Amino acid sequence: MFESKHPAGRAALPPQLHVFVRDWLSSNNILLKSPDGHVLIDSGYGRHSPMTLQLLASARGLGDESLSLLVNTHCHSDHVGGNAAIVRRYDCPIAVPSAEAPLVERWDGKALLYDYCDHRVERFVVDRALPANSNHVWGDLEWIALAAPGHDMGALVFYNAEHRILISGDALWENGFGFVMPPEVDPAAIPATRATLEMIAKLEIRLVIPGHGEPFDDVASALGRARKRIDAFESDSLRVARHALKVNLMFSLLDKQRMPLAQLPDYLDRVGIYREFNALFFGLSPARLAELLVGELVKSTAAKIDAGELVPAFGEAG
Ligand SMILES: [Zn+2]
Repeated sequence: MFESKHPAGRAALPPQLHVFVRDWLSSNNILLKSPDGHVLIDSGYGRHSPMTLQLLASARGLGDESLSLLVNTHCHSDHVGGNAAIVRRYDCPIAVPSAEAPLVERWDGKALLYDYCDHRVERFVVDRALPANSNHVWGDLEWIALAAPGHDMGALVFYNAEHRILISGDALWENGFGFVMPPEVDPAAIPATRATLEMIAKLEIRLVIPGHGEPFDDVASALGRARKRIDAFESDSLRVARHALKVNLMFSLLDKQRMPLAQLPDYLDRVGIYREFNALFFGLSPARLAELLVGELVKSTAAKIDAGELVPAFGEAG
């Protein structure tokens, strides 16, 4: 948890724009400061709320000043988890993409991937719905909200033409994008992901501020890697399903920090996404599915086994 130290990211940011680079459990927090009111984009994961509040109150954040608006690129748990705590502290309105507002209003834990994926999110209330193609002045900069369906079908990205900056959420990272649903679960997800990449490719972009990872300026290379991934996904839905389960299990591991291997089969049989995907794609016993996913996480060096428990390979960054 620190303000961006990446030379490309830091030097190229307008002074009113501050990026707090977080990790894979919490999304980055982007603060847009203005005498007319400060705006925050994305609030991280719930368990990290104390750190998010600390960051916001720091000298690089708001100090003693107030927050006028909290905006979410999309409503997955790692982007909205701090919403409730931020509203308690700053009493500011929350704006979410129009397509997500009804899901949040009825707290649809399946569509929003909360209880369906065993993600913990404190409930919050939507005050404003942001339509695609709407214009906003945040941090004295003009932003257009663009529909960016794929990883999340209601997601928005925010583009500032003057500085050619894209706030991309999980639609484009330096290396990939947020996991997508296999065609058997949502036939629109992969085509939408591809269309979103093509939409982004048409924008003139100098710097991308992603939902996770450092800001980056080599947009063409990032788009190339993302296209390659979507090509591979398109030809192999088992791979899409396995990837979705793998990243979700890694996310839950970052949340819980330790998962006893002996309890993992029961866990995978209890949590919706694993149970449903297993029935739909793999047809394995929960124990065999656990073995498969643990094997992949260990092989990719994201996780390791310690005294009979699955643990993240790296310490917690916050
Ligand atoms: Zn995310």
